[in-house]
Amino acid sequence: MTRPIRAEISLSALRHNYALAKSKAPRTKVFAVVKANAYGHGFKRVAAALPDADGFATLELDSAVQLRDAKIESPILLLEGFFSEKELPTYVQQNFMPVVRDLEQVKQITGATLTRPLDIFLKFNTGMNRLGLKGPLSGYAINMAASHRNFGAVTLMTHFASADAAEGVAAQLSRFEDIVKAAKPVFGKKPFGQSVANSAALLRFPETHRDWARPGIMLYGSSPFADASAESLGLKPVMALRSEIIGVQALDVGDSVGYGGIFTAKKKMRVGIVACGYADGYPRHAAGSNEHGTPVIVSGKRTRTIGRVSMDMLVVDLTDMPHVHIGAPVTLWGEGLSADEVAAASGTVSYELFCAIAPRVPIREVD
Ligand SMILES: *Cc1c(COP(=O)(O)O)cnc(C)c1O
Repeated sequence: MTRPIRAEISLSALRHNYALAKSKAPRTKVFAVVKANAYGHGFKRVAAALPDADGFATLELDSAVQLRDAKIESPILLLEGFFSEKELPTYVQQNFMPVVRDLEQVKQITGATLTRPLDIFLKFNTGMNRLGLKGPLSGYAINMAASHRNFGAVTLMTHFASADAAEGVAAQLSRFEDIVKAAKPVFGKKPFGQSVANSAALLRFPETHRDWARPGIMLYGSSPFADASAESLGLKPVMALRSEIIGVQALDVGDSVGYGGIFTAKKKMRVGIVACGYADGYPRHAAGSNEHGTPVIVSGKRTRTIGRVSMDMLVVDLTDMPHVHIGAPVTLWGEGLSADEVAAASGTVSYELFCAIAPRVPIREVD
């Protein structure tokens, strides 16, 4: 017997979510965003499960190379582009498209000796204020992208800061429209594409679909919105984090549980010990005080966590579940309990939970 924790990855749920993205944006090509090891789901597994995806977007050059080694021939976009001009030959050989995000990179491309032109995504800062061209520099970059022989197909892009919130996309989209308008006469007869939508924009703002959308989190079955559940959006959870009860304790009134004793029994209670802790990727900040717990499913029924999450274990309330014993199945998140709910009770987002799944957690593929 090995420690009972595991993450199950549902390939059919993944395919369902990608198909949903396509159906929401039927005239748009859709990258499956597989950066950060496909948000902890395994980028090679995800790419293999989506053979008909229009393309893949990642961020780590070695993962892009591994996709090509795995015979993935569709377009691959590198979301932070290249970090040194030394990478440019790899981009050309492997047919990778970099995001080009500042003037220095434009100059590195125009100054390089390339065996053929590079297809690029030219990124503009319209309000996120992380990466991207802004102001007068944009004009020079557009000129070069439109006319220099080292540039092949060009897609103008930006990234939204608040597509998931009340602020929406209007202000940033209007700045992007100004850039597109300015670019048209410069490009003249050379066509160019546009790409702006992440999951939140794809789901809520059809005007953002354009030529290429870039959904990530929705493919993994989580909601990008605090005010709409994944289920209500038609998404299916891809990852289920499962374990088992490995111990049971009886608490008397006044007994506390775990490090720091942040939970104290006010009545006689029965609690279960689950083989899952923060060293597995479960959030240590998950609520577990007397007032607030974090939802968890034990033997098909919802209950809550109790006390602080430790490195290898957490504790759940079994007081109303007298028939649950050692060996009972536990779902930390999965169908019936979204990672979004666990994240909300932990002061974070499901993106972080997925990315934090530790290497020691075995992954099992299920249909
Ligand atoms: C990560 C990323 C995405 C995907 O965002 P989601 O919120 O997961 O849909 C899209 N575009 C860029 C530039 C990104 O870095």
